[in-house]
Amino acid sequence: MSLSPQTAENADNRFSNTFLRLKKKLERGVGEAIADFNMIADGDTVMVCVSGGKDSFSLLSILLALRERAPVDFRIVAMNLDQKQPGFPADVLPAYFESIGVEYRIVTEDTYSIVRDKIPAGKTTCSLCSRLRRGIIYRVAREIGATRIALGHHRDDMLETLFLNMFFGGKIKAMPPKLVSDDGQHVVIRPLAYCTENDIARFARAMEYPIIPCNLCGSQENAQRKQIKAMLNGWARDYPGRIESLATALQNVVPSHLADQRLFDFQGLTRDTVVSEGDTAFDPPELPAPAAEIIHVGSPRAPSVGTST
Ligand code: SF4
Repeated sequence: MSLSPQTAENADNRFSNTFLRLKKKLERGVGEAIADFNMIADGDTVMVCVSGGKDSFSLLSILLALRERAPVDFRIVAMNLDQKQPGFPADVLPAYFESIGVEYRIVTEDTYSIVRDKIPAGKTTCSLCSRLRRGIIYRVAREIGATRIALGHHRDDMLETLFLNMFFGGKIKAMPPKLVSDDGQHVVIRPLAYCTENDIARFARAMEYPIIPCNLCGSQENAQRKQIKAMLNGWARDYPGRIESLATALQNVVPSHLADQRLFDFQGLTRDTVVSEGDTAFDPPELPAPAAEIIHVGSPRAPSVGTST
């Protein structure tokens, strides 16, 4: 069988220096996130949720590559939930998992029909759908003895969530790289927390994953998330370094310079209270660092705007 010109080009790309550099960059980002947040330890069983999208395919490949040279021994089980959405190509993921020789589990549960039955036409289906999916994922994680559930969210998902919560939820809250599941039974990790969507998309294209479309359920992507994504993409285009600075900010929270009384004791504040960032009450904030000085998320802490020395 001869390869199409596009396939041949992608196969070539996989051996190009550009691709190898990109692969290394992603693996380094994932390795740093795993180390910084103590995501995976010796003896862990990591259940990697693979939806068939670029992010989860990439996550699986990178974790498998890192396991080869990790100083700790851990098990990886790829898991896909077939929700019986119309047109879902049920044979694609098992064939892919077989082809790369990873242990896997396919779970088939018709949550699509449940959601269609319960939610009136025209209403948003995502909250019930994801609640059902979450319950199934937790059950499967218990069944296979998973100590970690790995999800494919990346840096840009985390930032979008931060702005969604600020704009529509009145909260400074993003998506953490590591958390305890809402049933208190599992540790959920996001090893792509330091990786950009752009890098992942380029990697996935070169890897030619058998991507499964994400709109099979017929639900439209959340309009608010779309808006935020467009806003962040606009900033990335017009203000180089801004997105990197935002990502760094997630790791540089200064509770004494916000206004949440649960995080900082403003009531008990006296002249003797030591605050980590000093006080610039009468000074204008310092100008932001030039883009070249902005340190990428995952690096040692960046200087912050308004820090007095
Ligand atoms: S987009 Fe579709 S599959 Fe995804 S959570 Fe919403 S209803 Fe479920």
